[in-house]
Amino acid sequence: MYLTVLGCWAPYPQPSGACSGYLLQEDGRSLLIDTGNGVLSRLLQHMEVKDLDAVILSHLHPDHLMDIYSLRHAAEAANREGRMNRRIPIYLPYGPAEDFNRIMGFNKAFELQLIDELPAPKGVTVAGFQVTFVPSKHNLPAYSIAVTGSKRFVFSGDTAYNEELIKLAGGADLFLCEASGLDKDAEYLKDNHLTARQAGELARAAGVKRLMITHFYPEYALSQLQAQAEQGFGQRVELAREGATVTL
Ligand SMILES: [Zn+2]
Ligand SMILES: [Zn+2]
Repeated sequence: MYLTVLGCWAPYPQPSGACSGYLLQEDGRSLLIDTGNGVLSRLLQHMEVKDLDAVILSHLHPDHLMDIYSLRHAAEAANREGRMNRRIPIYLPYGPAEDFNRIMGFNKAFELQLIDELPAPKGVTVAGFQVTFVPSKHNLPAYSIAVTGSKRFVFSGDTAYNEELIKLAGGADLFLCEASGLDKDAEYLKDNHLTARQAGELARAAGVKRLMITHFYPEYALSQLQAQAEQGFGQRVELAREGATVTL
């Protein structure tokens, strides 16, 4: 099972960078989590849209969403030209209405499934992976996501500290967790995001095997985020690096 980081910046990219986008692959199956700005061109460096099995949007903030608008055109073109003969399943939460309703209109490209409407516990098979969703703590409807293939991958999405995420991340082979700031930002972040140290503490509480931090604001030195995350985790912490593929 492989994870390729397509984009890791928030809420805007650094030069030549991309916002949230993560590609999970195993046995020829491909699942894309988040379509932040810049993610589609990065995805196309690794695969063709016709081979994309499904997409999950953790939430509809622009840094996790924007390239859905260009992916729509790529999927429609692939169908029109006979390279693909299906709609791509997209799992997403409801809201804000303006974005959601616009995506609802892309029904030639996408087959939409509201995560909110999945019966509890929100477990479903997506692209051959077992996927579980847990609501995160954010200022929009948003989810943390566990994806199980031969290994267990957990992505925090955007979230403040959340006991339910600790349960979801329990025993993860790789936990990809947002780390949106340093200790000094804790007050500013506290309702919607995690500091790097909190990401580490949460990962330690969950007993994950590996922690990779992401969702970097371009203002920060990544080495400082990494150092504070490692203090929280008590072990080495990896940084998400655009273009890098890691084996779970
Ligand atoms: Zn967000
Ligand atoms: Zn974000």
